[in-house]
Amino acid sequence: MIDRQIEARGVRSKTVLDALRKVPRELFLPENLREFAYQDSPLPIAADQTISQPFIVALMTEALDLEGGETVLEIGTGSGYAAAILAEIAGQVYTVERIGQLAEKANTTLKALGYQNVHVVHADGSLGWPPGSPYDAIIVAAGGPVVPASLKRQLKMGGRLVMPVGNSPRSQELVRITRVADEKFKSEDLLDVCFVPLVGKEGWASTAHRFSMNHARPRIRLTPKS
Ligand code: SAH
Repeated sequence: MIDRQIEARGVRSKTVLDALRKVPRELFLPENLREFAYQDSPLPIAADQTISQPFIVALMTEALDLEGGETVLEIGTGSGYAAAILAEIAGQVYTVERIGQLAEKANTTLKALGYQNVHVVHADGSLGWPPGSPYDAIIVAAGGPVVPASLKRQLKMGGRLVMPVGNSPRSQELVRITRVADEKFKSEDLLDVCFVPLVGKEGWASTAHRFSMNHARPRIRLTPKS
């Protein structure tokens, strides 16, 4: 899967590809879905949420430009799969999940695999996680209407943030923000995606609409915009 679907589609970072090769994705899935672990697609986990598509996890991680040793914040732990990929590269990973049941399960999986440098937090991640800040990089695995101001504040100077942003809870543009000065942020559009909504104080107000797997499947534009 890594060679044929992820590297072939343009993810070039050896650091990221090596991390993907090390993490057993099947262990983050419900038992009845484990046979699909190495198809490059999102899959349902508990509480109507999804484990992201490996290609998207790879692309977002590559966009964070990690070299190793960084402090990273992830919003939307879900299964914990992306947190494990980040933990293979970064020094410390704080990952925040709003659904208690998912946070607990992900924590158990990550600890069973021996990840000591991942800290799973049950909270509203649209507000970031100030105790671990400032962060070298922030990755948001759920789509919001704007990049939360709290997240921008918790980014180090020169830090990168990758997040799906869109004015509909169902379709977003993946953007990368770089903090270039205290109050100055550079923004780049990477590609069109479709993530589950970021629900919280600085995200969408509620899960009033139901989001099915079809809506959670990223629509990939193969060539990222420059
Ligand atoms: N990274 C995950 C996929 C996450 S799916 C993986 O690798 O499996 C998006 C997750 O974001 C869902 O679990 C959802 O509950 C969570 N989420 C949505 N809004 C959130 C918020 N405000 N704070 C924290 N988590 C949130």
